Amino acid sequence: MESKVFEFIAKEQERQDRNIELIASENFVSENILKAVGSCFTNKYCEGYPYVRTTGRKGRYYGGTMYADELEEYCCDLWKKVYNTDYHVNVQPHSGSQANFAAYMSVIKPGDTILAMNLDNGGHLTHGSSVNFSGKLYDMQFYGVDENGFIDYEDMEKKIKEFRPAIVLAGASAYSRIIKFDLIREIIDRCATEDYPAPYFVVDMAHIAGLIAGGAHPSPFGLADIITTTTHKTLRGPRGGLIFCRPELANKVDGAIFPGSQGGPLMHVIAGKAICAEEALSPDYKEYAANVVKNSKAMCEEFIKMGYHVVTGGTDNHLFLLDLSKTHPTLTGKMLQEELDKHHITLNKNCVPGEQRKPAETSGVRVGTAAMTTKGWKEADFIEAAKKIDAIIKAMDL
Ligand SMILES: *Cc1c(COP(=O)(O)O)cnc(C)c1O
Repeated sequence: MESKVFEFIAKEQERQDRNIELIASENFVSENILKAVGSCFTNKYCEGYPYVRTTGRKGRYYGGTMYADELEEYCCDLWKKVYNTDYHVNVQPHSGSQANFAAYMSVIKPGDTILAMNLDNGGHLTHGSSVNFSGKLYDMQFYGVDENGFIDYEDMEKKIKEFRPAIVLAGASAYSRIIKFDLIREIIDRCATEDYPAPYFVVDMAHIAGLIAGGAHPSPFGLADIITTTTHKTLRGPRGGLIFCRPELANKVDGAIFPGSQGGPLMHVIAGKAICAEEALSPDYKEYAANVVKNSKAMCEEFIKMGYHVVTGGTDNHLFLLDLSKTHPTLTGKMLQEELDKHHITLNKNCVPGEQRKPAETSGVRVGTAAMTTKGWKEADFIEAAKKIDAIIKAMDL
């Protein structure tokens, strides 16, 4: 039977082939991952877990799961290898947001306090936005960035002492510098007292998970208690999430995913996540992660050379933020995003530290290099794209 849907897919494929993709949270998966996600595993119900938990029971609720069991255990083993860790891993979260929901639910109760990075400074929706479950269910407190845009670790320490959170959360969607997981661990341990045991240290590495896997960013393993991620950003896998935790938290975390907040796992996506892990373990992947950062630095430096203001004055990872308010006071992030769309360049508007505009307008844009590096772009291509964006801005009637 013909379906109209294939017309939409064909048009989307054309768009993806044509456009310069600079959205920092996007990437292009391999043919193998596309095949796995489009496979017959989408038909199988597998509520529960394949591995023997402390109950000693095989925890699936349906028959016929033998191949799904093999797949899920294979997937879990691979992800432990990717991060060279003995942490427990749960590969079932449907998304990064689901992973965060379960991470919080596993160790704290509604009403408890979470200290996270300020959303204006690069934190994620699930890190305490008032319109998100996190902001509605928990007492959210925030640390920020300093006047140069770097995480203010002194502010973090002060806030831990002041609010005594049950979770300290690190990780961001729009932060271009190394996150010092070792320093945060030290701060947390330093803040613990006799009547305030160390809070849980949760790292949401959604954006930088691929860089960590490829050795291009310090790892939170061995430092954090729970680590959540998406698989579809720098990791270059199917859309989905993962949760890692210290082995002693395994039952709590598993229970918070199923039956706590999800039903049947998406086994076809778990198949894609397993291939993503295979790819992350390949020798090419290290080079990919290094190239993503090299390309980001090259493009960022070109913008600085052309007189643009980059938040923190540079980048250590796959993205950077242009703060237009300093150089183009009448140009909003939204205007630039829309203008670039006309030229088939895709990126997103983004708040900048000290933002004066509404989130729907913003004074900045976020630029990422993970997707086009997958397409084979080198430093020179990214430099050329920076020049093209500058030319487009110069041609605007501001
Ligand atoms: C993207 C992102 C998420 C959420 O991922 P979804 O899969 O879109 O739900 C969570 N945390 C951070 C830091 C992110 O950047």
